[in-house]
Amino acid sequence: MTVRIGVIGTGMIGRDHTRRINQVLSGAEVVALSDYSPDAARAVQADLAPGAKLHDRGEDLIASADVDAVLVCSTGATHEAYVLAAIAAGKPVFCEKPLATTAEAALRIVEAEAAHGRRLVQVGFMRRYDAGYRMLKQVVDRQIGTPLMVHAAHRNQSVPESYLTPMAIHDTLIHEIDVLRWLLDDDYVSAQVVFPRKSRHAHARLADPQIVLLETKKGVRIDVEVFVNCQYGYDIQCQVVGEEGLANLPEPMTIAMRREARLQSDILVDWKQRFIDSYDVELADFIQAAARGTAAGPTAWDGYVAAITSDACVEAQESGRIVPISLPARPAHYD
Ligand code: NAP
Repeated sequence: MTVRIGVIGTGMIGRDHTRRINQVLSGAEVVALSDYSPDAARAVQADLAPGAKLHDRGEDLIASADVDAVLVCSTGATHEAYVLAAIAAGKPVFCEKPLATTAEAALRIVEAEAAHGRRLVQVGFMRRYDAGYRMLKQVVDRQIGTPLMVHAAHRNQSVPESYLTPMAIHDTLIHEIDVLRWLLDDDYVSAQVVFPRKSRHAHARLADPQIVLLETKKGVRIDVEVFVNCQYGYDIQCQVVGEEGLANLPEPMTIAMRREARLQSDILVDWKQRFIDSYDVELADFIQAAARGTAAGPTAWDGYVAAITSDACVEAQESGRIVPISLPARPAHYD
């Protein structure tokens, strides 16, 4: 069966996922496109999906009888309405992160999916599909004893002037928030943010770097350095310290070169390259599940927990205090 997919939002990531579905993966085809800006949708149609139908409204795309499953790749504030419409239509929906821009909105999605009675939502937390993180999880689960501490870093070469202090949480840390929960099979109980000396490369409305301190239910202490003007490249680090050993996230594959009395290897600068394979694997998982009329991978509940945790981290940025994180009981639906 070929899953007929409609893509809402044909900007940077919507275009890339359309390419992935039509040119890299099997089992699905993009048959419909919609974007707030019709020119963007037309350009993606022309370049990557000549057979796709254009819809002025995302809601019409979702309702279309020609569409089996939906990708929501529009800007974050529009996600809730489209995901709720897909659930109401009983169609599997892949939603780029964030699931919603507030915890309340994410909870509405969780409740709608629970009322529907079947999983339909996959959230685009692609790091869970990264080969390096999967290897790290196998080691953490079996070989280094009980995890005690995590030291992580999320560094970008630079960010534009439009990137403000809370975006270090909502746009950047959100990936660590999800993947570390998955890695440790744990939940967070508190968050604190501390600010080291500010980099001279950070603009006036951005505190950079930041250190986010998270504590989990099982007592693991996590520190994540978010440093988005680090100058030297895009660099994701993760080290888990256990009772009997320590494990590091593998470095991306690169050539080690010996030349002119130096040992050198390149560091990536483009975040898209770092996780390019994991985007393929996450969408392959979505397509397989959608063919069965359901969803796989990161759940709406995971999106909701990420939203609650992000809110706590932003409150911690603003207050300078340790902010407790409490979650309602996870619905049985997500066990
Ligand atoms: P983008 O390039 O700005 O594309 C978003 C597109 O959605 C734009 O063409 C925008 O049109 C359109 N749009 C806005 N409101 C809409 C609506 N109501 N209905 C339909 N289309 C609408 O942004 P992007 O970088 O692709 O990001 C899109 C989403 O993917 C964001 O939630 C982002 O966080 C997420 N993302 C995730 C990852 C990841 O690593 N998983 C990476 C990148 C992005 P206008 O420009 O006319 O407003």
